[in-house]
Amino acid sequence: MKRTIHEMTNIVSTPAWQKSTFWLQENMSNQCQKCQQKFNLVRSKHNCKLCGRAVCKSCSFKDVILYLPDDEDTKEPRLSVIKVIGSPSVEPELALYVRVCESCLERLKNRQLEMLEKEEKMLAKGGDSLEMLLKEHSTMYRNEVKMEDQLNEYQIIIESLEDNSRKLNSSGKSNIQTVAKAQEDLADYLAQYVLNIQRMKKLTPESNTQAILFRNCLKGKCDFYFDNQFRFKSLQKTLGDSTPPKILECIQRTVDKHAIVSTQLYIRQLTYESLHLCDKYNLRDNIPQKLTLTDEFVEKETLDCIEQDGDDIDDHSEQLQELLQSQLKDHRLIKLSKRTLKCSGSHHAADMLITRSTDILHQVKVQLMMKSANRSFPQTKQTLDQTLEELKIVTLQDIVKL
Ligand SMILES: [Zn+2]
Ligand SMILES: [Zn+2]
Repeated sequence: MKRTIHEMTNIVSTPAWQKSTFWLQENMSNQCQKCQQKFNLVRSKHNCKLCGRAVCKSCSFKDVILYLPDDEDTKEPRLSVIKVIGSPSVEPELALYVRVCESCLERLKNRQLEMLEKEEKMLAKGGDSLEMLLKEHSTMYRNEVKMEDQLNEYQIIIESLEDNSRKLNSSGKSNIQTVAKAQEDLADYLAQYVLNIQRMKKLTPESNTQAILFRNCLKGKCDFYFDNQFRFKSLQKTLGDSTPPKILECIQRTVDKHAIVSTQLYIRQLTYESLHLCDKYNLRDNIPQKLTLTDEFVEKETLDCIEQDGDDIDDHSEQLQELLQSQLKDHRLIKLSKRTLKCSGSHHAADMLITRSTDILHQVKVQLMMKSANRSFPQTKQTLDQTLEELKIVTLQDIVKL
């Protein structure tokens, strides 16, 4: 491991003799080559690790990571812009943050989005199916390991509660939180796994031999899912047998609340982004309209849930607003690649709006179903289903103004 870090550092800090003359010249510069302000004690000089340009701190960003992917067998280091779609969702074990200038950052961002689009197109066309299958398989394998760890942890929590040593009682607020958190994490892994399986199902084999391989692979994944879901349910039953109903209800309420709040955040963000896109690319607003309606149902049930739990509604709305602002600033759900925008303009924006809205609604729905009790949030679940059905029949012609 040490050796790899050393190798990675070497890639970033180029020895002097390998630096281009361009870099050396730029290095001599005593002013920022972006904002032209002079370097001094306060404004220190940094070098873009990609183009070598000398820039000040505010004209450069440490938003790029060089890393070895955790979830793949490849030993090839990758470059990725953090907080941008397509970057690893958790910090990789072996990662190095790299400072780059603004224009390099922009270029990297665009490259990342284009690569993601290429991948999505390939998935839609079913081209290179085998490669996609292998990729999906290794992602799922990572999830499997995590899910098993999490199940073991959940079992330990439940056994220790059974041992009477930390019996759940109404004053055991922290115990309730612990169980709720473990349950939520498990539901998250299971939901992710369902989404993975659904993606895998969409792949089309290119030959009969591939068809057999795909089928077996899918069967293995489904078996794994059902085995683990069964284990999860049995553990929940064990917990139910040894815990008073009142406490159980309390745990489920906590899980439910978190689930609906995260649903609300996603839907609200998606609604805002869709409005913004329609405005910017002069699209018809039928998708934002549908999302706004969905958002209203979600909001109603979220607020009811929060009120029932004895929390302050105004506090919640304020927190939601804050979270949204930071999400919209750094973590957009819908990103467009500049190059494709240049060639196909509003068509590209419309296309991404439909695809991403569908994906996100679907993801949100699966997560909510997995986490919340069956009887909770009927309106939200129904409206999510309905909006998804409605999105299925929306075409590019419906939203691009001619
Ligand atoms: Zn500067
Ligand atoms: Zn640069």
